[in-house]
Amino acid sequence: MKNAFEAAGQYFEEAASVMDLSPNMKKLLLTPERELKVQVAMKLDNGNIATFVGYRIQHNSARGPMKGGLRYHHEVDSDEVLALASLMTWKTAVVDLPYGGAKGGINVRPKDLSTDELERLTRKFVDELHDVIGPDKDIPAPDMGTNAQVMAWFMNQYEKFHGFNPACVTGKPAELYGAEGREEATGRGVGILTQALLRKYQRTAEGATIAIQGFGNVGTFTADYLSRAGAKIIAISDVSGAILNRDGIDVAAALAYAKTNGSLSGFSGGERLSNEGLLALDVDVLIPAALGGVLTEENANDVRAKFIIEAANGPTTPEADMIFRKREIVVLPDILANAGGVTVSYFEWVQNQQYFRWDLERVREELEKTMSRSFDKVWSLAVEKRIHLRTAAYLLGIGRVGRATVLGGI
Ligand code: NAD
Repeated sequence: MKNAFEAAGQYFEEAASVMDLSPNMKKLLLTPERELKVQVAMKLDNGNIATFVGYRIQHNSARGPMKGGLRYHHEVDSDEVLALASLMTWKTAVVDLPYGGAKGGINVRPKDLSTDELERLTRKFVDELHDVIGPDKDIPAPDMGTNAQVMAWFMNQYEKFHGFNPACVTGKPAELYGAEGREEATGRGVGILTQALLRKYQRTAEGATIAIQGFGNVGTFTADYLSRAGAKIIAISDVSGAILNRDGIDVAAALAYAKTNGSLSGFSGGERLSNEGLLALDVDVLIPAALGGVLTEENANDVRAKFIIEAANGPTTPEADMIFRKREIVVLPDILANAGGVTVSYFEWVQNQQYFRWDLERVREELEKTMSRSFDKVWSLAVEKRIHLRTAAYLLGIGRVGRATVLGGI
């Protein structure tokens, strides 16, 4: 199995060859502008000192300040961060936001830390990082293991060095310069595009059976949106395992349970299933919304879904992607499918810069417009060039970044 960086590189190569990109341009677009690796040392509640490794990789700024999430997870390493940073460059270009791409993370198990420790960890990371980020340079946002609270600490610490600066980070709490609708945005965008894709196949979400891996920020809002649209969510999962209910899971009950208990473990709304078992269910739509690299050469032939919507970043290895192509399983790629989050992050940044607030209705309206317009563009490109949706999305993203690079001058 390829690692995340090799996988992203392979998808890039495929699009680059369709575009006939020169070797010089390929190298320029693949090489990150800056890679930062820092020691994040802090005092634990028990008085011991713990040391973690933190990363921020700024991949490309040809189209604007760099943008990308901050991940707290025990598998974070420089290869993964670089792969995710490059995905952000193509993603912001696919949805045509005036941004480049970056990503960051700390190799840590956030659940092992107390709230106070998590706050100290975040503040310490900002101490190491604040000079190279900022509203016109690089703007972090939540990703796996981080949330609005982490972003609030992040902003507060950044402001200690640079003064009032709410646009330095997005995904903040609504009470603290966050945008209405940011928390739901990625899942909502996934839901909107699931509907758009199904419509292309003369289907609707109404009655469609869906399995979702991951019940965090993205998974929960995706489940909520699609169940309200009439889909039957028959399986959900988190790190504790999966739940299956062929009559449809009561999503509101699952959400309430996970909120109270911290995970789905013990939820009685269905029978237990393994996470691998969830990926192999006979459903219309499979939505990986947790980790990368979960759909591989080993399990791609077991997948029975007709559509895969990549809500997570990098859930499909190139080997699995080839198998899905042969089996005519339609894959909506991450750089389009989960772009709702960065889109509303952009709306938040715009509001912060203007000291003006949009209401939820406006955010949702603009999100729908951006996602639908981008989907239509990728779909037309795929039809016109007879290529898969992933290649079409990369073609669109790389083309925009490449043109900006040439126009700006090298
Ligand atoms: P999160 O931390 O809120 O939730 C992650 C979920 O995945 C949790 O329910 C966790 O229990 C589950 N999980 C972890 N390991 C698992 C495993 N082995 N099997 C099954 N479930 C597992 O994270 P999130 O923000 O929802 O992000 C999920 C994915 O979506 C990531 O790939 C992230 O990069 C991507 N993404 C997130 C955003 C965003 O706005 N948060 C935007 C774009 C893409």
